Order: sequence, then structure tokens, then C-alpha cells
Amino acid sequence: MTDHVRIFDTTLRDGEQSPGCTMNVDEKIAIARQLERLNVDIIEAGFAASSPGDFEAVRRVAEAVTSPTVLSLSRTRDEDVDAALRAIDQAKNPGIHIFIATSDIHLKYKLNMTREDVLNAATWAVSRAKKHLDYIEFSCEDASRTDWDYMAMICSEVIQAGARIINLPDTTGHAIPEEYGRMFAYIREKVEGADKVIWSAHCHNDLGLGVANSLAAIMNGVRQVECTINGIGERAGNTSMEEVVMAIKTRRDLMNVKTGIETRQIYPASRLLSQIIGQPVPPNKPIVGDNAFAHEAGIHQDGVLKNKLTYEIMKPEDIGIPSNKLVLGKHSGRHAFINRLSELGVDPKATDVEKAFAAFKVLCDKKKIVYDDDILALINEETRRTGDCFELLDLKVGSSVRETPHAEVTMRVMGEERTADATGDGMVDACYKAIYRISGINPALERYSVKAITGGTDALGEVSCLVRENGMTVAGQGAHSDIVMASAMALVNALNRLKARENAVAAPASEGL
Ligand SMILES: [Zn+2]
Repeated sequence: MTDHVRIFDTTLRDGEQSPGCTMNVDEKIAIARQLERLNVDIIEAGFAASSPGDFEAVRRVAEAVTSPTVLSLSRTRDEDVDAALRAIDQAKNPGIHIFIATSDIHLKYKLNMTREDVLNAATWAVSRAKKHLDYIEFSCEDASRTDWDYMAMICSEVIQAGARIINLPDTTGHAIPEEYGRMFAYIREKVEGADKVIWSAHCHNDLGLGVANSLAAIMNGVRQVECTINGIGERAGNTSMEEVVMAIKTRRDLMNVKTGIETRQIYPASRLLSQIIGQPVPPNKPIVGDNAFAHEAGIHQDGVLKNKLTYEIMKPEDIGIPSNKLVLGKHSGRHAFINRLSELGVDPKATDVEKAFAAFKVLCDKKKIVYDDDILALINEETRRTGDCFELLDLKVGSSVRETPHAEVTMRVMGEERTADATGDGMVDACYKAIYRISGINPALERYSVKAITGGTDALGEVSCLVRENGMTVAGQGAHSDIVMASAMALVNALNRLKARENAVAAPASEGL
């Protein structure tokens, strides 16, 4: 058996299904390009039949990347298979991912189908897709709660019909490692043609066991893991890509398997996703959290200083964590800047380098020391602003102990310049009220957070906000050395995304595994 564990990334499909994680097409392409730099084996780009927006996203991602296989999810319906096939048509390595629920509880309450109906639907859909392409993955939704002998029968039939990868997901995050591993051992033993296909694990983290269950599956012959950047996903999330990849790499001695992941791209990927969806990574998150490599306790620090291996099982540089050393400053040229971008995992071809370099020069005037994280924030700031309806032009704020905080904002709205002023409880509040006045949108502000990207009072401040309007929740981000300005940029970014979402056709209730 091969020692290569394939990494199947579903950040753009399962990950996007979690609240507040929706991304527009350009943002999905930015993530897909980063996934290609990570060297993932498979990108699940979306669920083409679920909405015209999803179809478009799958189609554009399929065109944007070359080395990974690009898949669309599909139910066992004619129109789904058809939409998926059309969406991945232009991919260099196209594939389809067909699923149907197989547990009795889903059959009875969700599908209203018999076991025989489900078996027929599964084999029909696989045969239908097989006429058009070879790369077919089949999933038994809620596999971990499905009768094993019934599931073995379905797997045998879909393999016969042409499925090349069989995924047995723990859709509800209900399994524990020993049990999930044993399920794969049992099914692989029972299924005819089991050694001709690749077995895949797809776990949810409801009990905090997504990574542990995926590793147990690998120990039982699974050679594909489905996961997301930062572990985002429905409810408690999916198996975290960075955790499962680094567990495999760090404990190669025990597991004897490897992935093809370029681990130095892990940290840039985590940062990019976090900035796009506006969800900060918790400090204690393994691998990519701010504290993952920080040693506070005196004894530990002493040990680490003498020999890093006393307490560090991984090296931060292997994950691509910037060392935060001074790299560039006022006198750095365009060439040095572009070089540094490449070292940070940013593709200069996919970025407006001129605009980013101009923003870098402006930042250098304000800030004595420019760190890697500042540069990443600038780049993400530039990639966020494309095809916008609202553009922030100017901002004046005033506040003193005796006076009510006051803000005057100038914005361009669909090409027309507008100014408004407002007072508020604080400068950010006043500025937000002025922006609401100009834009004519007055959403509920559900979350607002400020984070200093690097140390010092001249650091770039990164503001994330989450706004809700007409049942739609979107995140916005802004980065600037002035936090009121960063706050205004974050809100304007959120309003633009709200506007873009309004123009898209509303997606039906999502389904998945
Ligand atoms: Zn899932």
C-alpha cells in the first residue's frame, strides 16, 4: 500500500457552509491559489447545483488552478450531476463527488427512501457520471451511524459502477477514534474490489475528535483525508488541515505515511483565510495560533534557549511562521519587496504588486519597522478591494473629554462622491453612523474586534466586523496604522460584500456531508 496520504481540502465547500464564512468568487480564487501553493491533492470547490453563485465559483476555481484535482459536490440527481459536470468542464484535472445519506435515521426522516432506493440512486448516479469522466468520489453521508453490512453492499456496488474513491464520513462528529478506525477495517475487508479504490475519511469536530478520528482511519488503510484550513466548517468545524498534516509529519516514525503538503505555506494560508472571513484564529489553536510556539514559563524558556528540541516538537519556520525580524524599510526597493512577497508565499502574479508596493511605501513613512505580518496584511487589504460599490475617500474625526465624538466621512458611491457627518458614543461609533448615512444601509453590527498585527503603538491595527442585514451575515476587514481608519475600512468592506451578495441569487438551504 502507498505511503502517500492525499489531502482533500474542502474549505471552499464544507468550510464555507459555516455561519459567517461565506466568500465571494474572487476570495474563493485567492484561497484556491493558496491551496495550490500548499500542494493539496484535491480541492472541493463547491456544490455547483446549489446556486448560480456556487456554480460560478466552481467554474472559476476549475480554471484558476492546474495541479490539484477540482471537484464539485453532487447529490444523486440528474440536474446535480449535470451541473457538476458542466462546472468542472474546464479543469485540468476534473472530478465529481457524489453523495447520498445511508444511515437509517437519515433515510427515514430526511430522504424518505428505503435502503434499496438509496442503493439504486447511488449506483445510478455513479454510472451516469462515469459516462463523462473517470474521477468519481462517492460518499455515504452519515457513514459512522450507518449499518456496516448495508454500507459494505453499497460500496461494492458503486465501485462496480466506477467510483474510484470511497469516503465514509463522520458527518455528525459522533465517532470515537477506535470505532471509526475499526469501521474502515471492517468495510475494507467485506467490500469486493476494496483494494482497487482509495478510501477517504471526512470528520467533524463536535467532540473535538476530527483529527484523532482521521489518524485512526489512516492507521486502518485510509489514504485520503478531507479537511479545511483552520478547521472551519459547520458547527464545531471539520478536521483541521494544519493539525492533521503536522501530526503525520511529526509522527512519521509511528505512522509511516506522508503528505505532499508544502508545510511552509500553512501559516500564510491560515492568515489569508482568517482575514478573508474575518474570523481570528484563537491564540491556543494548535500549529497556527499565536501561542502555539510561545514559551512563557521560565523553566521552559530556559530549556528552549539551551536546545530547542527540549520542548519544541516542531519548528515554527517549517510552518512558515514569519520570524518577525526587520526585513524591509523605507529604503527597500520594488525588487526587494517582490522577493519578500515570494518568500512569504504570496504569488506576485496573482497580486497587484504596484498597488501593494505603493501601500508599502506609505506604510514605511508612518512606521519605522515593517514586519512580515504587516506586509501580509497589506497584500490581503489590496486583494479585498475589487469591483466595489462603495469606496472610502476621506475620514475626519474629533474627540475630546468635553466634546461629543464627531466624524465626517467622504465616500464614492457608484461613482458619485458623498459626504456625511455624525456624532456618537466614540469616534468609531460616530464614523460608523456617518457611513450608514452615506450608504443607506443600516445593518446590525454583530461583532467588532481590533487586533494589533505586530507590536508597538505604530503597529498596523486589523479590524474585523460582522454585520447582519435581511438575514445575511457578512464579515469585513480593514488594516491601517490608525484604528478608526481600519474600522471604517472594515465596515465599508462588509457593506460591499453585502451589496455583492444582494445581487447574487439567494442560495437554497445548503446540504452536504
Ligand atoms: Zn462535512
